[in-house]
Amino acid sequence: MRQVGAGSKARWRGRWASRCAAQAGCRLLDLEIESAESAGADAVAELRRTAAVIISFHDFQVTRAIRAAARRLRRFPADYYKLVTTATRQSDNCELLEFLGEANAAPGEAGKWLAFCMGEAGAPSRILALSRGSAFVYAAAAAPAAAEPSTRWSRAGDDPMQGLAAPGQLDCATLRERYRAERLPPRTALYGLLGCPVGHSIGGAVHNAAFRARRMDAVYLPLLASDLKDFRRAAERYPLAGFSVTIPHKQAILRYVERADTWVKLAGAANTVRVRRGRWEATNTDIAGMVTSLRKFYGLSTRQSLPNRFQAVIVGAGGAARAVVIALGALGCGNIVVTGRDPAKVRRFARSFHLETIAMDELGRERFDLLVHATPVGMWPNRAESLLQPKQICAHAVFDLIYNPPETLLLRLARAQGSRTLSGLEMFLTQAAQQFEYWTGEQAPLRQMSQAAQSELALMP
Ligand code: NAP
Repeated sequence: MRQVGAGSKARWRGRWASRCAAQAGCRLLDLEIESAESAGADAVAELRRTAAVIISFHDFQVTRAIRAAARRLRRFPADYYKLVTTATRQSDNCELLEFLGEANAAPGEAGKWLAFCMGEAGAPSRILALSRGSAFVYAAAAAPAAAEPSTRWSRAGDDPMQGLAAPGQLDCATLRERYRAERLPPRTALYGLLGCPVGHSIGGAVHNAAFRARRMDAVYLPLLASDLKDFRRAAERYPLAGFSVTIPHKQAILRYVERADTWVKLAGAANTVRVRRGRWEATNTDIAGMVTSLRKFYGLSTRQSLPNRFQAVIVGAGGAARAVVIALGALGCGNIVVTGRDPAKVRRFARSFHLETIAMDELGRERFDLLVHATPVGMWPNRAESLLQPKQICAHAVFDLIYNPPETLLLRLARAQGSRTLSGLEMFLTQAAQQFEYWTGEQAPLRQMSQAAQSELALMP
């Protein structure tokens, strides 16, 4: 019986509710440490005559002084002790997971402790708790209604408690099926997505499906972090075997990388890191994936380039547009024109790569071989939007980097007027497969990864 609130009245109500629950036949009672302290050891002992008792400690703000909290809990003989704090950084998860190891090794305490972190950043501790000896872990019976599947545990901007008993709680199906939380051994290889936010990604579904398909003892975790210094230390403590990197860390992560490949050097950014004998090595599969997808689309072997007079137009001037310029350059395309909503930004972007620019309203006057759309317009949930009108879709082929939905309105309009189309989902899967191979050295199970992505996307309301 978790009692939220303070003061003697609330504590009395908690005690009374616990006693009623025990009398009604409840077999396991969760009693807050504050209620136990106010009721006294005799009352707790009396409760234990009718039901098993968990004495629990919650910190809804931070993770600190967990050993002092554990001493406070141990003062009451109990069937289980629960230590739950709030993760504000990745190393908080490590604190709790390491504590579980210590507690389970203490004489007479094996199997008595539950420990994990609340909050979106605490997801790794919830997923790994059982593998590190937590007696059990809490999960919501069902995913909150209408939540984006991969954010079922982290509805940023919404009520963080919607459908959940605690902030950051995962639902039971996700914990069991995606993360295999009950079957992970203590030394499972750990991978994940570093970023802030991370809840929008379908990478968790795709990479965990790949590990399952290859029967690999590995799991891919959401690693929400804004403090890279702390993340570096946490990565050693988990320890992580590799991770994907997303906004806003793709450039800043290079400060911690000891070896980077050509794609990283060309882009000045990395989206994939692997750990080899403690050293961080990086690649950029956003670019490598784009090159591979375009090669496949145009039927080019690894030695072939795009034709000499091939002309491309890129709509957008952000990070993905940058990757497109580098990828097209690697394929030998020298005729690239850029456009976007903010002429000054587009000019700055074009200058940095020595490219031409074109105004958005001039699109349509000239025909290109390829148009690449690199803005978020048309992305879920705004699927009815297209940045370009049919008359502006002026290319033999259109590549929309958006992968959710796999076929955007822009691609439908392009197809309707006879252009060939390439979906961002193709590129996403290609780059995810390259990440898998970079980390594991094994061939990626593309079919299963694609199925996982499709099912995840199909669940979107
Ligand atoms: P970004 O760095 O934030 O850049 C976004 C670009 O879109 C900027 O040029 C921005 O213009 C423009 N933009 C944003 N909202 C706009 C609007 N309402 N109207 C017109 N232009 C708008 O983002 P990014 O990383 O480049 O990502 C762009 C897209 O690529 C996203 O949809 C992302 O999901 C997709 N992507 C896909 C993959 C994949 O694997 N398939 C990989 C990476 C990215 P301002 O500069 O004026 O704001």
